[in-house]
Amino acid sequence: MGKNHLVLVNIDGQEIQVPQGITMIEAAEIAGKEVPHYCYHPKLSVAGNCRMCLVEMGMPIKDRSSGALILDELGKPKIGWMPKPAIACNSKVSPGLHIKTNSAKVKDCRNGVMEFLLVNHPLDCPICDQAGECRLQEFASDYGRGYSRFIEDKNVKPKRTRIGPRVMLDDERCILCSRCVRFCDEVVDDPVLGFIDRGSYSTLTCYPGKQLENNYSLNTVDICPVGALTSTDFRFKMRVWFLKKTPSICTESSTGVNTIVWSREGKIYRITPRRNDEVNDTWMPDSGRQLHRVTELENRVNQYRVSGKVSNAQETIEKVVALLKAGKVGYIISGHSSLEEQFLMGKIIKCIPGAIGMIAQQQEEDTILISKDATPNLRGTLVLGLLKSPPAPKLSHIGNKIDLGEIKTLFVNEDDLLAGGLTEKQLEKVQIIYLGSRKNHTSKFADIVLPGVTVFEKYGTFINQQFRIQKFEAAIPPPNPLVDNRVSLVKILKWLLPENDPSSCEINSLWNEISASVKALEGIHYSKLSEFGIVINQENWEKDPFCEGKSLHYSPVNTRK
Ligand code: SF4
Repeated sequence: MGKNHLVLVNIDGQEIQVPQGITMIEAAEIAGKEVPHYCYHPKLSVAGNCRMCLVEMGMPIKDRSSGALILDELGKPKIGWMPKPAIACNSKVSPGLHIKTNSAKVKDCRNGVMEFLLVNHPLDCPICDQAGECRLQEFASDYGRGYSRFIEDKNVKPKRTRIGPRVMLDDERCILCSRCVRFCDEVVDDPVLGFIDRGSYSTLTCYPGKQLENNYSLNTVDICPVGALTSTDFRFKMRVWFLKKTPSICTESSTGVNTIVWSREGKIYRITPRRNDEVNDTWMPDSGRQLHRVTELENRVNQYRVSGKVSNAQETIEKVVALLKAGKVGYIISGHSSLEEQFLMGKIIKCIPGAIGMIAQQQEEDTILISKDATPNLRGTLVLGLLKSPPAPKLSHIGNKIDLGEIKTLFVNEDDLLAGGLTEKQLEKVQIIYLGSRKNHTSKFADIVLPGVTVFEKYGTFINQQFRIQKFEAAIPPPNPLVDNRVSLVKILKWLLPENDPSSCEINSLWNEISASVKALEGIHYSKLSEFGIVINQENWEKDPFCEGKSLHYSPVNTRK
């Protein structure tokens, strides 16, 4: 019997059906009961060492000879409670199981566990960077004794050990839950962490000559339930309760890792993974956490420019329209653009047809969450019918048309034409319209520059390698006078189709048009997209030309043993 088979269990007097084979801690979560824990993590193997998740468990008593249930005076089955509590993380549910998560005995156990955990803990909460998200502090408040009986001297351990380029360890705070050890071993296959010494002297450390330097090292900081592991980049920068959390999508690759962007007053402080079991479990690469730096870069495009001179939005868009109307246009669409931007580009191309190019952006893939395709929305171009085959790294067909004089204007979205193999000589032969957020060779050559905004400053959707459409939201406002790329594209369309273009700058209204006109996106709407996204018409994309022979049914890292 698999997990799809449901069994009836009783949790704190409440009867509930849960999947067969799950653990008591998972069943309690389904029933909305909190079972405090430290070492248990849903995506790691069970260690069962913190003992914080102790619960009482029992089964209905049966008559040994007849097998019939023995009933109490109220006619209900009598429950035979186990004399000792059991850890909920390592005991599976079975039909008729009874669990008590908040009895006096359970509370007493938690109280005892908390007391042991705090014996050698430095209690340096006022200066601890984990404050606001520390499970030790929270559970001490919920289940602790409230005062200390410990009068001996606490163990002293190393307070600041840099165990990797991005991770700092405070050994005194470590409660030896082993989450970080198991993560490195099971998820990244880089078993660099371990414990040395015994009893109260047990200490987390790196193996001699090794460092925690893999590209997933910061996940250990995320899952450390206390302030033992902190990010060298984020520590002491900001108290977490001041930060606003915005759901987003990592643009590092076409995996579409779900993220949370933490910001305050227009500044982004950190990016952490957001759980999506179908995409990234609860992990993300360290490299993706740095991407918010693009919002602070000096080399951002932040002015409308026409023929090298600063302009305003109105005049710039009028010039764009004039160039497009002159004809002989080539379009370079980008896998970094949102689906909405690609849709609007598609409409412009329908108005003023021209050659379409896209630069393939590839990187070294890993076996975890970084795909070979280095763009978040390559699949969007396929769904919208903009591309029929995988893009090539070089824009040779566009280059040929420029040389033949068949292209006089190039409308480029974000990407750099030199990286696409076009030469400076070729760029000098055409008028370039550049819509992007970063300065590059193309923006330098561009006759018209429409400043764009970063993924952290706009709303939209991406379609990942599973053909899962996922939405992201603006975490911070764009710098003045920048507007969402979508707005610039809609304005261009309004000039091209002044009479009858229905496109709207407002994302929900725009989605009314998208879902009505793109068959594969029928019935999908931005406002109704769940936080986990949705796989679109999966059967239509079985032969994904971008998959390079790999299964479309990409499965995320699944490390649970
Ligand atoms: Fe657990 Fe954190 Fe200690 Fe690692 S450093 S064993 S995650 S408490």
